[in-house]
Amino acid sequence: MTDETRLKITEIFHSIQGESTLAGERFSFVRLTGCPLRCTYCDTTYSYSGGKWMTITEIAAEVASHRTRWVCLTGGEPLAHPNALPLVKRLLNEGKKLSIETGGEEDVTPYTGLARIIMDIKTPDSGEKADRCFANLAHLNASDEIKFVVCSRQDYEWSKDICRRYDLVRRFTVLFSPAHGTLPLKSLAEWMLEDRLDVRLQTQLHKHIWGSSSIGV
Ligand code: SF4
Repeated sequence: MTDETRLKITEIFHSIQGESTLAGERFSFVRLTGCPLRCTYCDTTYSYSGGKWMTITEIAAEVASHRTRWVCLTGGEPLAHPNALPLVKRLLNEGKKLSIETGGEEDVTPYTGLARIIMDIKTPDSGEKADRCFANLAHLNASDEIKFVVCSRQDYEWSKDICRRYDLVRRFTVLFSPAHGTLPLKSLAEWMLEDRLDVRLQTQLHKHIWGSSSIGV
């Protein structure tokens, strides 16, 4: 691999992180093109195809122009790209801290310890299954984060059960996020309080700032 290695990129942008325990931090986002899943609530369908080929040097230069401490690789599914690892290494060499948002269907092993992994566990109402996420759990670090996008009470009960079966609350930070426009934040908050559930309620901060249909923020 050389720094002329290329990746298909949907967008690179400078914004405020809206999700995870890093919400509120200034970030440079690199959105890679393509995803093997098709979640019912997906808000980045424009990343499924298209995009433009960029070299690692070009990507790193655009990221550097944002002058952020943090870079988020997102998608799409960033880990579906064979060249994601050299990009991660290049950005680390440039002194960046990295987070990677993954749908859970790809092997996280090469990336653990290099970046903070934010891994989805797909709920039944997502319409998708990413079975590899359960194998990935054995390789994640305590500093990595597990996210459930909850669409309904049924999803909530399912997510609670998965947390119990895999001891997730003790092992990781667990994020419960309501599917935007489907489940009210208040309902999820009240269920968590009733159940004394020690997961972290997450709202998509960027949608509160720029609106739910904005892209590139
Ligand atoms: S994994 Fe993410 S990008 Fe892929 S379809 Fe689901 S929500 Fe969309």
